[in-house]
Amino acid sequence: MRKILKYNILWQSFVWIVLCLSGTLSLKAQSDTVITSIPNPYADIEFLEVFESRDDSSSARRRLLEDLEEEEISELWQLRESFAYTSFNPNVLHYRHPNEVINGNDTVWISLVDSGRVYTHPYRGRLTSPFGFRWGRMHYGTDVGLRIGDTIRAAFDGIVRIAQRNYSYGNIVILFHKNGLETYYAHMSRLLVHPNQVVKSGDPIGLGGNTGRSKGPHLHLEVRYLGAPIDPQYIIDFYSYKLKEERFPVCKETLYGVSSSGARWHKIKSGETLSSIARKYRTSVNQIRVLNGMKSNKIRAGATIRVR
Ligand SMILES: [Zn+2]
Repeated sequence: MRKILKYNILWQSFVWIVLCLSGTLSLKAQSDTVITSIPNPYADIEFLEVFESRDDSSSARRRLLEDLEEEEISELWQLRESFAYTSFNPNVLHYRHPNEVINGNDTVWISLVDSGRVYTHPYRGRLTSPFGFRWGRMHYGTDVGLRIGDTIRAAFDGIVRIAQRNYSYGNIVILFHKNGLETYYAHMSRLLVHPNQVVKSGDPIGLGGNTGRSKGPHLHLEVRYLGAPIDPQYIIDFYSYKLKEERFPVCKETLYGVSSSGARWHKIKSGETLSSIARKYRTSVNQIRVLNGMKSNKIRAGATIRVR
């Protein structure tokens, strides 16, 4: 009996050691991966502008800084290091480089709820239409039925990137989250937030509606990473209103439309202008600006930009 107990204890501690070891390993894997394979020429610019120019008088920036706490600023500052988006653009609805998100067999683990992050189900309603093809076109989100005027809440902590009216999405809010995911909330009757506003998980961001291309009141919820759509049902259980897992692997298999890559990149040489580059690749200045989320035609030699 004593022998068995001894072995039991031995066995128990062995299990703990293995668990702890794997715990450390998985904790390590949980930190948001830096995507180094994506040319990232403008990653610095707008974040630097926003966070460095504290004396800037523009109202949006003043508001942003008022809303941010010191801790959040430093967190965002760190985020900037792993920020794979070309810019934080409050005008472009979709970042358009889904094809370069994952290079080869890369997997980027997105942590959803660790280090204080919590999830709030945006609206507790019945799932009416899932992600996928329907009526001959792709449906990039999950639809949930509601009554007009019902409160829609932020899924995770984040910053409002888009809050505007759009022809097809209607009144839409796009939140950028610290783990790199973006969540879209469409067809709302009213917007309750403004671009650059910092929101907490569970904060009201709008009221349910039937605006834009919508047949009846519902919430259209999208989850995207670098513009590439992810089926929200991979992440969220729409029946228990909870997350399915605490972290999520972003890879070719979980991102929609990633495999067919047609993108091209160009390293800017000195003397080149956006229009000379556009001519070279038979595209337009505007197209390049959209692809890279650029606000002006200013470019610098040595940077790499996407041209197609
Ligand atoms: Zn929808």
